[in-house]
Amino acid sequence: MVTYNRESFQSRESYTAQIHLPGRLFEELVWWALQALPDEILVGMDIDAAAPHLPEVETLFKSSEHTEGLFQGQGFIIGEAHIVNRGNSYSVHHLPEDWTDDMFSTSRGSRAGRFTHWLHTHPNAPAIPSNADADAAQETPGVDMILGLRFSPEGPLPWFDDVEGVRRRVGTEAKPTPSKSRRRSFFSRQNLTVLGVAPSGHKIHEIQLIAFRKNGLAINVILVDEDGFPFGWKELQDKSTNE
Ligand SMILES: [Zn+2]
Repeated sequence: MVTYNRESFQSRESYTAQIHLPGRLFEELVWWALQALPDEILVGMDIDAAAPHLPEVETLFKSSEHTEGLFQGQGFIIGEAHIVNRGNSYSVHHLPEDWTDDMFSTSRGSRAGRFTHWLHTHPNAPAIPSNADADAAQETPGVDMILGLRFSPEGPLPWFDDVEGVRRRVGTEAKPTPSKSRRRSFFSRQNLTVLGVAPSGHKIHEIQLIAFRKNGLAINVILVDEDGFPFGWKELQDKSTNE
């Protein structure tokens, strides 16, 4: 989370607004996503109306393109999250996205403003919005978030990386572990560094997280602690005074 925030700070000029997500909530989202693997989940999120972004944090991450009133709930820390739907990964053709998003479109279509923000997962695909995601986002009053997870065994969902867009990783990019054997295994391409193991037994290699507004603009996500301060706050303050 510290490295994620560092990148959010360094690339702050690429964003017109920011959203603060508590680390404990983020951990919960990752946990739910892992428990559902290889399925996709849809999560509705609401702001904590009693918890506005801390002004000093907002200022540190503010870009020159900053825009007020860009979306509902702007300026407030995300307060709670609920799983709304879960996709059944049965089909093996195309990208999982093509069919799960169709299936979810019914529930998304009837969102009817129940939640301010929405998050869905991309099992074995980068956290980059698809066309179906862009369509679904049109009904979102707040922001849409995507949590991308790279895992193995891949099953019917091999890692799909042929997507244009900016990747925002939580931690490092999945890299092959150095092999001691000179013999190539059929499974060698799955021999990636492991961040952790899901309840389903899947090995997790990479986590990505992004947020965007329905007009396609990227929103800068800041991971904050219980007091509303970003992880790595001291380091970020030092960085900004040295600039
Ligand atoms: Zn999607």
